[in-house]
Amino acid sequence: MSSVFDDLVGQEHIIDILKGAVAASRSGSDSQEMTHAWVFTGPPGSGRSSAAVAFAQALICPNQGCGACNECRSAATGVHPDVEVIRTEGLSIKVEEIRELLTRVAWAPSMGGWRVVVIEDADRLTESAANALLKAIEEPGTRTVWLLCAPTFHDVLPTIRSRCRHLQLRTPSIQAVTQVLIRRDNISPTMADFAARVSQGHIGRAKFLATNESVRSNRKLIMQLPLQLGSLAAAFQAAQILVDIATTEAHTSSEERDEKEVEKLQEAYGKGATGRSMATGAAKAVKELEKEQKSRTTRMVRDSIDGALLDLATFYRDVMMVQQGNNGPLINSDMRAEIEKYVSSFPAHASVQKMSVILEARKRLAMNAAPLVTCEALMCELARR
Ligand SMILES: [Zn+2]
Repeated sequence: MSSVFDDLVGQEHIIDILKGAVAASRSGSDSQEMTHAWVFTGPPGSGRSSAAVAFAQALICPNQGCGACNECRSAATGVHPDVEVIRTEGLSIKVEEIRELLTRVAWAPSMGGWRVVVIEDADRLTESAANALLKAIEEPGTRTVWLLCAPTFHDVLPTIRSRCRHLQLRTPSIQAVTQVLIRRDNISPTMADFAARVSQGHIGRAKFLATNESVRSNRKLIMQLPLQLGSLAAAFQAAQILVDIATTEAHTSSEERDEKEVEKLQEAYGKGATGRSMATGAAKAVKELEKEQKSRTTRMVRDSIDGALLDLATFYRDVMMVQQGNNGPLINSDMRAEIEKYVSSFPAHASVQKMSVILEARKRLAMNAAPLVTCEALMCELARR
């Protein structure tokens, strides 16, 4: 029988624990296996929020997570009355949002079983929001289960994490990602293999790449950059190309969403509202939203540049493999001819050094260094023989 846990790629070690908890939650016994607060952590793309949502489905499904019944489907699409999924696009989850959530979930579950709250970015809770949440988690005897997701356990406030059971997801293997792209998303085997390989186990990115031609052609342009670093002038040009591509990619995906959000907000205030205080209120809220959107786009550009730098690192990784005479598969196997040619004119000791300067650039970007200057400095380093 198929189950909601089938799509948790490469996470067999936690699926058994979750299934045990679901079974224990039914038996009514005071079993140690079921508890009411959990933290799911894992590297980006490992699917920590998918794991939390699957667990939520299994807890409310009469068949322990069949994936096909009404309960399972409505939980997955966010319309089940007993399952709340808190997602944030912003930089933080504020205390007002948590208070509002707590009033919503104060009632007993409508179906009589469990009420489940998934918080996708628990690392973005402000301190006061986390404290408000802590009170709810500490409350004994409720039928609410809290599922928090974060990159690492340390991203969750100590007071909260001490009350939660911790489950750590792994980066899934390339084969596992390939299989899920074929089975779940109907992607052709060749494309699935390519996308899984170059995304290095990041399922979301693999799917994005496999289903998006412009993203694939942008990636191709990025991967050509190391071959074009013949002079300092070329290095500066390469930096500009990389930043331009990343910026366009981030803007295209955020513009449409930004517009929709503003529209929705204006609707909430009543578009035809003529009252003076109403109009000022709406204008103020729109301004606030636009500020939030701007910071989100800035973050998306940085994420996009970071993704491009990770791609570049795979080029030098492949160069190193060929230099060492390793016959194992290349990440960029479609570039084998170019890489072999490149290796002949490239000193063997340099590839490790190139990988570490890429890592340095990523660290500087994460600490808010200016993107273009950081990329220029990086490309100049990469251009050195
Ligand atoms: Zn079901």
